Order: sequence, then structure tokens, then C-alpha cells
Amino acid sequence: MIRLLAICLILVVGDASAQQKALVNTGKSKYAKLSSVDMGDVTWTNGFWADRFKVCRDTMIPNLWRIYTDAKVSHAYRNFEIAAGLDTGSHQGPPFHDGDFYKLFEAVASMYASTHDPKFDALMDKTIAVIAKAQRADGYIHTPTIIEERKNSGKEKAFNDRLNFETYNLGHLMTAACIHYRATGKTNMLKLAIKATDYLYNFYKTASPELARNAICPSHYMGVVEMYRTTHDPKYLELAKNLINIRGLMDNGTDDNQDRIPLRQQTQAMGHAVRANYLFAGAADVYAETGDTTLIHTLNLMWNDVVNRKMYITGGCGALYDGVSPDGTSYNPNDVQKVHQAYGRDYQLPNFTAHNETCANIGNVLWNWRMLQVTGEAKYADVMELALYNSVLSGISLSGRSFLYTNPLSYSDELPFNQRWSKDRVGYIKLSNCCPPNVVRTIAEINDYAYSVSDKGLWFNLYGGNTLTTKLKNDAEIKLSQITSYPWDGKISISIDQAPDKATSMFFRIPGWSKDAIIKINGTAVNQVLSPGSYAEIIRNWKTGDKIELNLPMPVTMMEANPLVEETRNQVAVKRGPVVYCLESADLEKGQKVFDIALSAQNELKPEMITIDNSPIMSLTGKADVREENSWKNQLYKPVTSPKQNAANIRLIPYYAWGNRGHADMETWIPLDR
Ligand SMILES: [Zn+2]
Repeated sequence: MIRLLAICLILVVGDASAQQKALVNTGKSKYAKLSSVDMGDVTWTNGFWADRFKVCRDTMIPNLWRIYTDAKVSHAYRNFEIAAGLDTGSHQGPPFHDGDFYKLFEAVASMYASTHDPKFDALMDKTIAVIAKAQRADGYIHTPTIIEERKNSGKEKAFNDRLNFETYNLGHLMTAACIHYRATGKTNMLKLAIKATDYLYNFYKTASPELARNAICPSHYMGVVEMYRTTHDPKYLELAKNLINIRGLMDNGTDDNQDRIPLRQQTQAMGHAVRANYLFAGAADVYAETGDTTLIHTLNLMWNDVVNRKMYITGGCGALYDGVSPDGTSYNPNDVQKVHQAYGRDYQLPNFTAHNETCANIGNVLWNWRMLQVTGEAKYADVMELALYNSVLSGISLSGRSFLYTNPLSYSDELPFNQRWSKDRVGYIKLSNCCPPNVVRTIAEINDYAYSVSDKGLWFNLYGGNTLTTKLKNDAEIKLSQITSYPWDGKISISIDQAPDKATSMFFRIPGWSKDAIIKINGTAVNQVLSPGSYAEIIRNWKTGDKIELNLPMPVTMMEANPLVEETRNQVAVKRGPVVYCLESADLEKGQKVFDIALSAQNELKPEMITIDNSPIMSLTGKADVREENSWKNQLYKPVTSPKQNAANIRLIPYYAWGNRGHADMETWIPLDR
């Protein structure tokens, strides 16, 4: 029976080696302009991402695996063991703990694709055997329910609560299984995911409309489409389309859950930002397969709303911890709907209390990556890169061992109330550990985002020291190597190590912040306009040994916000290339306070490499003005005093690196002086 199942699976999914093995597999998606190179085709060699990848391999993954398999700290794995009947006890941890574990599993699978370390393979096989035992015969798997079912307690029932996390967990199982299959060629995890997806398909055929809306943090939209891409089973695409269509059809939906009105009728991003961004990413996946123009129309509205009015300068999403949606059906305060961890109103972007959950910022990357694949437009790569370097990386310490759930733009010890979530990095976020495995899987997978391919050729999305060995869409082989200190320096040197034998286009991303970019081929500047925020297409008969040099100048730039963002009026944020900077108390002289520092717009900050916690980092140093406003105690207002000009030596560090030198005050938006 098992052999028969295995044979059937091979027939259904085909041979992994003959199929594109991309992280997000749009290789056969009719409405995606771009597709990814296979996992393992890009190897970081030196520089920024090579450094982060090494920490991910050697510390982030082993550390989190240790935490998740130590039941004294986390029950993530123990829950599966109990559900499998291999141990006794009760479920512990949040209802989305299974999904957390699948995300970590996905990180291991992605790391295996790059390293082929047999230790990772053996670890995954051992784990899959336990997950398989925990799964019900009908395909359902959610350890809080399975454990109670084993006890016959009658306490938990499958899909009894539309606000439960079953589909979120199942979605991560699907994604992890597709990636495991593509990385290893093995079907042991995929079999479990096929059973689970079939269960979900059958459930949605018969479920009450109320329960059919179960869609908290809908990772399963992406998961189900990826299952379709892996198995080519049309019922999975039908399921994905239905999941979107059933939203907003009941009369008790909420703006928090983006289902008060149907998705296609929504005109602005609202509610819980993780849920919103996962929904948008999943809808983009459905568009890539179906070409449903009503979906891309809505996604364009959402994207413009987020990027032009609701996103932080760090790419962070979700301004509010708690708020209300004034868009509900009534003005009666009793009826006003609560939103949480949510997008704010237009231009409502507070700094101290910014929620910006790491998962929402990762959702921003997932969404923009899919928009980039669909359209080939560089503006999506710009947002993706912004989020990665700033509000995603800020979610994990430089050491790879501690985490932030929220990513505020300022922190002060003098703020006289406790915010709900720690602003200090912690090793284990007890109530909400969704972010740590999410950021770890993302860092394990950034090499998969570096390039894309299209019918015309090769696309350079993210720069970093790496080698690429891949096949273009026409099966032509290409090998190249990239040397750069990006994002600390805009010089990128690319050598073609094996060229295709036909004329081929290469598309070099010119970031939106990059003015006066230059591309030289074998020492000669390319004579074409290189517009910021576009891909520069260069078509030629490339030869082995060709050298391409990009220079993307990255001067220190003072940024200001739209004046409707009242929290940042008369303040500046400092950016250099894609990296946003902040000021932390650890870099000030004794007695000086972060919030007394002011910058002039003409400030000449100079780049200077430093090391924090063994991580090389480009800091910016210079002079700043100091306001003597140390006596705010019991005062809300007072007359203005003149700042002392150039009275402080300051050092700014990249925002993502804040909070790595102990507890500190921090700000990203700094008052503008003169
Ligand atoms: Zn999270």
C-alpha cells in the first residue's frame, strides 16, 4: 500500500530533478513574467549576506531548533510527539505553535538546498516521521485538537472556531513540504501535505460559510498555490480561488480580518498587518496562475495605499498595537470595530508605539516578491529590499540568538507606560514566537531572491557577493560571480564565467534611491539611460570572461516624511543606499541624551566601518547640535531654547542593528535643526 502510494505520488508530482526547484515556483505560472532560479543555484561567497547566511547556518537554525525541541522552554516539538502518541501530556504554547515549527523546518530545508549537509537531511527525516504519526488518517493535523482527541476529552474539535489557527498551521506545512521536496527530491513530507490539502479541499466543499472563512493569518493561500505548482492538481487551484471568493460574504466579518467586505471591493489596506500582507501575497499567487484582473486591480490599490500612506521608512507595516476601524457600519461606539497589530489610518505612523510585527514586515517581502514575479517592475524589488535590510533584519540580533516581536522606530525609558511587548531582544518570545522562525527562514532563503529569469534572460534583483550557476528559460547554462561590499558600497563587479551561446538580455536593477548609476562592460560605459527604480536591460552576445561593473552611488541622504505624518514633522531620517540609520544612546558621549540631539540638513556624516557583536557594520559619524532640554520632568510644554551647534560627536548605526549592545534609547527620526 505504501509502495503504491509512493508510485502514485511520483506520477502526480513528477521527478523533482526534472522540475524547477525554485523557492516560489512560478516557472510555469502563465501570468508571471519572471520566475526564480532553483534553490541552491546561488551561493553567497562574501560580504553582507554571506555573513548573515553563515550566522543563520551556524547559530540561528541550531539555536532555534534547540529551543523548539527543549520542552522545558518550548513545547513546539513536544506537542507533535504527544499528538503522535510518543509522549504524554497536554498541548502547551500558542495555537499557532505548529506553524512556528513548520517555519523552522522550512528554514532547515532551505539551508539543506544550499549546503547539502546530511545532518539537516537526517534531522528532517526523523521529524517527518513524528509529524506523520501525529496526522489523522483523513489528513487533518493541528496538535491542540489531535492531543485532546487522543484523550477523548471532547475539549477540542476540528474547525470549530473560525478564528483558530488551523489553516495558518496547515499553510506552513504545505509551504515547508514543497520546499523540502524541491530541496531533497523526497516525498515523505509532501505526502503529509497532500493529505492535509485534500482534507482542506473536502472541508471547504461542505463547511458552513461561517467556518469556511477560517483565515487567520492566511499563510495557506500561498501554501495551497505552491501545492498546486508542485502537484499540478487542479483542485488545489480551485481551492485557492474559493478561499479568496468566500471572504467577505458573511455579515459578521471584520476590518481586522480584512473580511468585512469582499477582497475585490476593498480600496485600502486595513486591519491586522500580518493577515493583510499574507492575504495580498496569496492573492498575488492566485493571480500568477489565473490572470484574474480583478485581483491584480485590488492588489494595485492595496500596494499604492500601503507604500504611499501606511508604510514606515523601514518597510515596516502595522502602525498600531490596538486601534479601531472607523469604517464599520455604525458610528455607535459600541459597534466600532477593534483592530489590533494593524495598519493605521493614512499617514498615522507613530514611532515609540509602532507595532511593526516582524512577521508583517516579512509579509511585505513575500507580497512584493510575488508582485515582482508577476510584473517585472523594479518598484516591488525596492520595497522588498527596503524591508529586508531594515524592518526584517531588525527582528533578530546580530548574534542570531535573540528576537524582537515589534519593531518601533524610537525607544525611550522615560515613556511612562509599559508597552505590551518587550523592546529588548529576547531569546524566546513566550506568547508569540511566530516571528523568530519566520525571520530565520527568510534569512536562509534570501539567496533565492537574488536573481530571476524570464523568456528574455537573467534579472539581478538583490546585490551581494555570490556565485550563480543556473539555466535560463531556454535551457542555456549561465555561470557568473559577483563581488561587492553592497549595501555598504554601491560598486558591484560581475564576471561571466560561462555565457549562453545566443544573444541574451541581462536586467540590472537600478534602485529607486540610486541617481547617476553607471554600468560598464569590459571597461566601457553603457550608453543608455539608467533610470532609478527600473531594470536596465542590456542585450548582447555575452562571452565567458566578460566583466560588468555597476556603480550605484550611495551618498548619505537626509529624508523627510510627507507633512501629513504629524509624528515626524521637522525631523529627518538618515539613509544611505537601502539602509536606514538610527541614533542609539550607546553612541553618545556621557550625559547626552538621544532626544536632545538635532541634525542639520547640510550635515556631513561620514561612513565608517565598525564591528558590533562580530558583525561588520557601516556606521555614519559626524557632528550634531544639542538641545539642553534635560528638565522635562512634570512639564508638557516650555519655551524653546537654542541648541548648541556642533556640540556633540555622534555615530549613527543601521536601524536593523539597534539593541545589540544592551538596553538603550533609540530614535530613527531626528529633529531637524537650522
Ligand atoms: Zn510574528
